[in-house]
Amino acid sequence: MAAATQVLACDSASIVFSSDDQVAISSPETLAALHAAAACLKDLLPVAFPTETVYGLGAIALNATAASKIFSTKGRPADNPLIVHVSSRRMLQTLLPQNYALSPSYELLIEHFWPGPLTLLFPCDHCLIPDIITAGQPTVAIRMPSHPVARALISVTDAPLAAPSANSSGKPSPTRAEHVVNDLNGKITIILDGGPCEVGLESTVVDGLHEDGNIRILRPGGITVEDIKRVLVNGFSDADTPIPQILVHRRDFSDDALEQAPTTPGMKYRHYSPSVPVTLMRMSNAPPGIEPLSPSAFLEDLKLSIPHSPDTLRVGLLMPSDSILMKSLISDTTIQWHEFPFGLVSEPAIIARRLFDGLLTLEREGVDVILVEEVSEENEGLAIMNRVKKAAGSSQWITIP
Ligand code: AMP
Ligand code: MG
Repeated sequence: MAAATQVLACDSASIVFSSDDQVAISSPETLAALHAAAACLKDLLPVAFPTETVYGLGAIALNATAASKIFSTKGRPADNPLIVHVSSRRMLQTLLPQNYALSPSYELLIEHFWPGPLTLLFPCDHCLIPDIITAGQPTVAIRMPSHPVARALISVTDAPLAAPSANSSGKPSPTRAEHVVNDLNGKITIILDGGPCEVGLESTVVDGLHEDGNIRILRPGGITVEDIKRVLVNGFSDADTPIPQILVHRRDFSDDALEQAPTTPGMKYRHYSPSVPVTLMRMSNAPPGIEPLSPSAFLEDLKLSIPHSPDTLRVGLLMPSDSILMKSLISDTTIQWHEFPFGLVSEPAIIARRLFDGLLTLEREGVDVILVEEVSEENEGLAIMNRVKKAAGSSQWITIP
């Protein structure tokens, strides 16, 4: 497509939204970058831009030709639907069917978490929203990003943007402009650089459209299940109707149709995987019949199973810096260790922010294998483990020394 890719720096601090969703941009460079990106989008070409979750590859959502270029640039399977991003409640309203009214749950979730990393499913107006966006589903997924550059780009373009992560399909999502350059250089015209992403994992995808009124989490993400529960419990405390239940897909419910559908995040396709093998190291709940290995036996297995140069095995580590397993692994000095700073066990938000950066950075350092330590599936840990399980080709249970 494009010959050279321009990286245009944007200063988030120069962008301010008023309470009525109007944007003011005080930096001339940032304003010029946003206008250049908006012009590119209006020429129906995709643009990469920062969001608070990961970098997105955006195109005008209501134009099927523009949206199709997202699929061709990423190599994304056509049956994987896209999330539509809006900059205001007014823009959301323009996308919804005329007689549709938001449920009390959706009102609460929007009030507390928009703008932010929460995607909601809405009934789809098929006269307005191209089938390529929804992959033919009866629903459309919509969110309002909180990153000033993302929201300003949508506002300046004055159009909703479809935007999956700005990476080749199947790879870890980019959380810095440099990651996008490494992957898509020459394939797109403009990358807006707004610095590293704060959340680091994709949005939480919520389906609140069922008649039972319950909230189904289809994909855990930047907004935790605990946060959603707190808001609904408080919001419904004085209501006559019962507090909606929160059901996490595959943890609290399964659904045959959902399991088969490509709309189930990362179900059908390889996801979040670097080109080097990733092994998930688990210490809890070994399934029956699986005998956990000692750390040294695990490393001996690794040396035999991972192809590497005859002199040294190079191993990337994504482990909390206070991990009790770490010491016994790195005491093996025959291995060349590449540690990526990963935060403390008690800081899952920091681990979430660094996970994709760690996978992409260690891959570029040329390690032979990446080892990721499991985290507890609470708070941000649920989304972290959702991504790590899909990135990892194998899991190994290890006994804590
Ligand atoms: P991403 O890959 O981060 O762009 O997120 C897109 C994901 O959102 C898809 O892979 C689906 O899992 C989910 N999604 C988007 N639209 C829908 C929809 N209409 N119904 C269910 N899930 C959806
Ligand atoms: Mg993605």
